[in-house]
Amino acid sequence: MTERSRNHPPDKADEGMAPVTRGIRGRCPRCGEGRLFSGYLKVADSCDVCGMSFHGHDTGDGPVVPILLIIGGIVVGLALALEVLYEPPVWVHLLLWIPIGTLLTLGAMVPLKGMAVGLQYKYRSTEEDARPGGV
Ligand SMILES: [Zn+2]
Repeated sequence: MTERSRNHPPDKADEGMAPVTRGIRGRCPRCGEGRLFSGYLKVADSCDVCGMSFHGHDTGDGPVVPILLIIGGIVVGLALALEVLYEPPVWVHLLLWIPIGTLLTLGAMVPLKGMAVGLQYKYRSTEEDARPGGV
């Protein structure tokens, strides 16, 4: 990011869904270069490339709801199909669905949280006050 683009970030309306896809990739929703996360699910304090503060981009439990609905639906559907087709003992279900559900959930958390931060950035639904210049 150049000094000029640091001082004049791109207009969010012109970027389309780019801030959201940057968030899904775990990158800063404004510049797409800095890291969004400082830990597994901890949002960094600010972008190390453009300096954008991530303060106020708290997604709360927002990313968990689609995970519960989508991954829960997939796992329960597959478990029901397995039960109807093969009637395996309960330990087979436990051995299959607990690790699969856990891995799918852990794999989906980071992209969905990044997507939520990207959506907050795009639509300015943060607790952070607007700064002079509308940035
Ligand atoms: Zn940035």
